[in-house]
Amino acid sequence: MNDFLMEKQKEACGVFGIINNDDFDTARMVYYGLYALQHRGQESAGIAVKSGNTILCHKDMGLVPEVFDRVILNQLQGNVAIGHVRYSTTGDSSVSNAQPMVLRYRNGNMAIAHNGNLVNASVLRDELESQGAIFQSTNDTEVIANLISRYRVMSNDIVDTIKKVMNEIKGSYAITMITPKRLVGIRDPFGIRPLCIGKTGNSYVIASESCALDAVGAKFIRDIEPGEIVLIDEEGNLESHKSDKKEASSLCIFEHVYFARPDSNVDGVSTHMARVEAGRILAKEHPVEADIVIGAPSGGLDAALGFSRESGIPYGHGLLKNRYVGRTFIQPEQATREKGVSIKFNPIKSEVTGKRVVLIDDSIVRGTTTRQIVTMLKEAGAKEVHMRISSPPYKFPCFFGIDTSTRKQLVASYSSIEEIRELIGADSLAYLSLEGLLRTPVGSTLGFCTACFNGNYPMDVPDEVEKNSCG
Ligand code: AMP
Repeated sequence: MNDFLMEKQKEACGVFGIINNDDFDTARMVYYGLYALQHRGQESAGIAVKSGNTILCHKDMGLVPEVFDRVILNQLQGNVAIGHVRYSTTGDSSVSNAQPMVLRYRNGNMAIAHNGNLVNASVLRDELESQGAIFQSTNDTEVIANLISRYRVMSNDIVDTIKKVMNEIKGSYAITMITPKRLVGIRDPFGIRPLCIGKTGNSYVIASESCALDAVGAKFIRDIEPGEIVLIDEEGNLESHKSDKKEASSLCIFEHVYFARPDSNVDGVSTHMARVEAGRILAKEHPVEADIVIGAPSGGLDAALGFSRESGIPYGHGLLKNRYVGRTFIQPEQATREKGVSIKFNPIKSEVTGKRVVLIDDSIVRGTTTRQIVTMLKEAGAKEVHMRISSPPYKFPCFFGIDTSTRKQLVASYSSIEEIRELIGADSLAYLSLEGLLRTPVGSTLGFCTACFNGNYPMDVPDEVEKNSCG
């Protein structure tokens, strides 16, 4: 694959939706839901609220509490709302790509928020533009909205319209949408990104992860199935339909490895338990003699617990992560770094000095952070550092909404395990096998996308990585 194309951005996001049949403050509920989904996206945040026949929307760059304050939330009055947090590390991070997108079409107003990445958005965009369509963003969510508007003109049924759009778009999508009459949730036929439904009082909630339902006091009802379209009206009636397309389910396994919050259940599996299990299997596959097991916060903590339980090596809290350092943190420059500036992580010396340490992390992407952490632990007096990774080597880029940088930055795509060990400065390094990883979502009845580990993409991936989609 061409490197230029590989370098375009991929993102992941979080979506939320609510239809208020009680008397709570709709926008505030979305705000709390988005707060719980902040780990899925820190670049921009937005809320759209249906107020009578209009849709009010506020979105901006920044974290949820930076984008919204009391005054703004008070202005967003209405009974149906959706929200979005967007994540990206490179490329075009402008407010024009922030979501939800609000559009006017023949039937009224629509708002749409999307987590995922279409692999054929530019083909569809070209087609639409050649027919005269105008786009305000470079976002593939707008392509979806455009197709909905187009097919809606030809059909008087929203379900039929959505099914037609689902036949056209390819890739991953978990969508919340406001139409003139309903709140809609849509999950792509492969079910690559998660989406679930909950209920509080007489009101329904749709969210990327169940932790957001907990945050607003909603009871988890069920996951939205791959290929399912859920519509909820203002009388509280819930309808479910299935896309015409049937595919083998392929939930992104990286949701369990890293992306989802450990207090979420994704497709019936506790993310925390899947990670603990990964740590257990890792301890069986790659045992090591050591005095303490620590996790790299926060992705490695649950697996470290599993490793400790299985190996009998005591679990310790050996590394502190400053929780206020977000993705927008300005990294120290080389010169400042050489002075020993380390704001993000700091070892807890009393736990690691003089000890043989097993350090668990969920993945190594570029190797940069891992090398810094290993160096810190050694400087803090760790006698040995044995790195154990609770997933297989990350070798292939994701086209479906996880930012994994460019292939040339995926260290495992061009280095042997021994070379990576040397790069990060660990005394030993071992990874969980793919077979082991696939045993971790205990009880899951769905299949998984494991393309980042073995290159087996669930659908044809394009030569060209779509740009600026919301992932
Ligand atoms: P590095 O050593 O620089 O590759 O960083 C490894 C760390 O990156 C691990 O702790 C992972 O939890 C974390 N990580 C994995 N995937 C991602 C991602 N898509 N975006 C940001 N961080 C990630």
